Amino acid sequence: MQKQFSIQPQDADVSPEMLEKINRYSRKTLTASEVFVFSAVLCDNEIDRDFECFTPDALKTLAPLFEGKTVIQNHSMQTDDQSARTFYTEVLTDPSRTTATGEAYTYLKAYCYMPRIPKNETLIAEINAGIKKEVSVGCAVAEHKCSICGSVEEVSPCKHQRGKRYGGTVCHYTLEKPTDAYEWSFVAVPAQRNAGVTKGFADADALCKQFGETNAEQITVSREEAAGFAELVSSLKSAAALGEEYTALLREKAVCALLGRLPELQSEQAESLCAPLKPAELKALCAALSGDAAQKSAHLPQLYTAKARETDVPADNNAFKF
Ligand SMILES: [Zn+2]
Repeated sequence: MQKQFSIQPQDADVSPEMLEKINRYSRKTLTASEVFVFSAVLCDNEIDRDFECFTPDALKTLAPLFEGKTVIQNHSMQTDDQSARTFYTEVLTDPSRTTATGEAYTYLKAYCYMPRIPKNETLIAEINAGIKKEVSVGCAVAEHKCSICGSVEEVSPCKHQRGKRYGGTVCHYTLEKPTDAYEWSFVAVPAQRNAGVTKGFADADALCKQFGETNAEQITVSREEAAGFAELVSSLKSAAALGEEYTALLREKAVCALLGRLPELQSEQAESLCAPLKPAELKALCAALSGDAAQKSAHLPQLYTAKARETDVPADNNAFKF
């Protein structure tokens, strides 16, 4: 599951306590002047663009799971792009702010550090300048609970849809029982911010899933996501071509096997019999018509054997004798 939040990373002073926590993750012991520390709100209990929200309890479970996780840029898995590491998390409540459901606003705040090295200068400068960024947060939860009827999607899915109105209440799902948290990343903010739903898609599969599920009028994807999607489509196309080739071969084999067993059948008839069959059915037919399977099929239903005349079949074909 991938969630995207707009954040304002803030630089924080490096206290001795922080430095101690940082050095638990650092190979070499770092001094306060060697690190840059910033904080970011990773997720909260506000209903998001997918009509989902974390429960305060889920945030508390999730928080320690982010500790030690790296911050990557644009979901790249290259170590070069790992710019920061989360060394401490906490869950805070802002009683002055309430969520759409009337709960006190509760959020997961992560503290991260970056070594002050040339590679990190740009990001440090952007954070210092207060440039707002989007973060894409990946985590896994065991339960999605419907706000209308309380059904847990993973246990007993209900018919209520996210974002739809039921008796004056808009349905949303609460994210409960987090099981894992992954690296999180800063992502490029798409230009058409207001064009529709914007989401950080972990991969093209997640994007496809969203196409099917979204209730939004429009959906905005980044250039990178679009490229990933195009790549997926192209690989599916070649897989489909191979599949078609394989099915054609199977069909040819089935037609030959059918004609071998039933020589009286016209080849066009055998072809039209096999034409509507799916690959799995063609495979089963080929297996049934091949030597061994045919020998064993003496228990074929009466209707099949009754229709075949003894003169039609080879002398050794007991399956068709009665
Ligand atoms: Zn429901």
